[in-house]
Amino acid sequence: MGGDSSIIDLAVEGLREDFPSKSRSWVRRALIRFMKNTVKEYGENVWVVRGLPELGDKYPTYVVRLRDGRYYCSCFESSWGLRRKSEICTHIAAVILYRNYRKLDSDVYASVINIECVDYYLEIPSEFRGKVKVVKSVRVIDATDKLNPRHRVTYVIYADEPMEVRARLICDGDVRELSLKLTRTRRYIVELLTRD
Ligand SMILES: [Zn+2]
Repeated sequence: MGGDSSIIDLAVEGLREDFPSKSRSWVRRALIRFMKNTVKEYGENVWVVRGLPELGDKYPTYVVRLRDGRYYCSCFESSWGLRRKSEICTHIAAVILYRNYRKLDSDVYASVINIECVDYYLEIPSEFRGKVKVVKSVRVIDATDKLNPRHRVTYVIYADEPMEVRARLICDGDVRELSLKLTRTRRYIVELLTRD
């Protein structure tokens, strides 16, 4: 995979957020597996992870499955099975990284709005509910008036397919009717735009 480094950063960040109690070495081992391109998708919710002897693997391959929202790895069935069952092994962590990466690298259709206001609101008509997602990032840029700080707000409106979305943007009492054309970009751009 090799991969785009900013996408890899975000994929690792996602793994850390999902497993905040895991050690750095656990994350590092998962990253080594991912970077060595050991994860292959085998079918729906099944992945094969090539074993790496340098990471202590005894078998040439491991099978990771996702069932009912839980991951299972064939290394659970080894002689260390009982001990490992309660843990998330780094084969699974590598699969999660792989999936995070694939998702961040996928196409979405998005439109971006940048505004500076004290009070703000973006209204998307209910007909777009379920089809369109909205994420925002808010930063205070002027807090001279402590009760009414001024914000810089970035909204990203995105969907799985190209479309035109009507929206109403309210910024300090100024109401604007917008027609947003969602154009193709990649999922990780949406993440980068809305990170604090
Ligand atoms: Zn495993």
